[in-house]
Amino acid sequence: MAIAPDESQLLTASQTATLPVPHQSPAEEADSALWQEDCAAPISREKKVSAKELRIAGGPKYVIIFWLGLLHVGALAAPFCFTWQGAIVAVVLSWLAGSIGVCLGYHRLLTHGAFQVHRPTRWLIAFIGGLSGEGCAIDWVANHRKHHAHSDHEGDPHAPRDGGWWAHMLWLGFATHEETYNKHIKRWAPDLTKDPVMRWIGYMFLPSHILSGVALLAAGQWLGGPGMAVSFLVWGLFVRLVYVLHITWLVNSWSHMWGYRNYETMDDSRNNWLVAILAFGEGWHNNHHAYPRMATHRHKWWEFDPTFVVIRLMQWTGLAWDVVDYKRAGDRDSD
Ligand SMILES: [Zn+2]
Ligand SMILES: [Zn+2]
Repeated sequence: MAIAPDESQLLTASQTATLPVPHQSPAEEADSALWQEDCAAPISREKKVSAKELRIAGGPKYVIIFWLGLLHVGALAAPFCFTWQGAIVAVVLSWLAGSIGVCLGYHRLLTHGAFQVHRPTRWLIAFIGGLSGEGCAIDWVANHRKHHAHSDHEGDPHAPRDGGWWAHMLWLGFATHEETYNKHIKRWAPDLTKDPVMRWIGYMFLPSHILSGVALLAAGQWLGGPGMAVSFLVWGLFVRLVYVLHITWLVNSWSHMWGYRNYETMDDSRNNWLVAILAFGEGWHNNHHAYPRMATHRHKWWEFDPTFVVIRLMQWTGLAWDVVDYKRAGDRDSD
């Protein structure tokens, strides 16, 4: 079903954030009401206290700094153990962890409820999202919902107004919340926090990377011996992780700094074609901020969104339903 952007009836991000979530139980509606209320609150243009200053005051998060540092150091070995097979593994796993795990899963499914899937599919996609190296689904979703509620204003975890590098990656090195961690995730991701399977998937974050590293070593050894094993590990794990991290971080930095705007949203979001190409369609970020619950980020014919192609395929095969491919709830009935 094609989207026909109707620019004469624009809604702000705060208005679209309150669209009803399809097929929610009353309990789920009550749980999601709090963060949706925050998303719907009018954004203050005043910046009383810098969110960056608050987080820096909370001290560095050494575990995350070590984790991200380790991945980057590992990726430095890439030129010394290049093989075409290793590069192909890196490309395929980048698509799996980046497009399916983060863009389709963490972002459009779990954060925004842009479509519905069966619970096992939801858990599988959340697990794949963890393979991106970006932390567990609960953390990711909580931070991203907070970003939408405060985009480029006080409270935004990663606003480029606090510095381009801050928005890109430095914010991750500090506490991303002013309240306690439990309060933070219960406030912003209550639907995921109460799911014991989702919490267990979160605990599997580090083991899943160790296991995938062992699997890559074994596959490389089996296919071509020790040299291929190291190539598979470096390219399939370290290079791939660093690539996926930076292309998705670019959405927070470049797509709030450079590009064109289809919609006059209250934030600085931009449609950045380079980020869109690199990050599987997520670079059409101004479209997304204008209509956060839409499953597609393509609002003009040239704005290619490969992640949405997969959502359509899932819909056609019965794996996904209630795809939000309309701007307003009323548009759905008129299609
Ligand atoms: Zn944004
Ligand atoms: Zn979003």
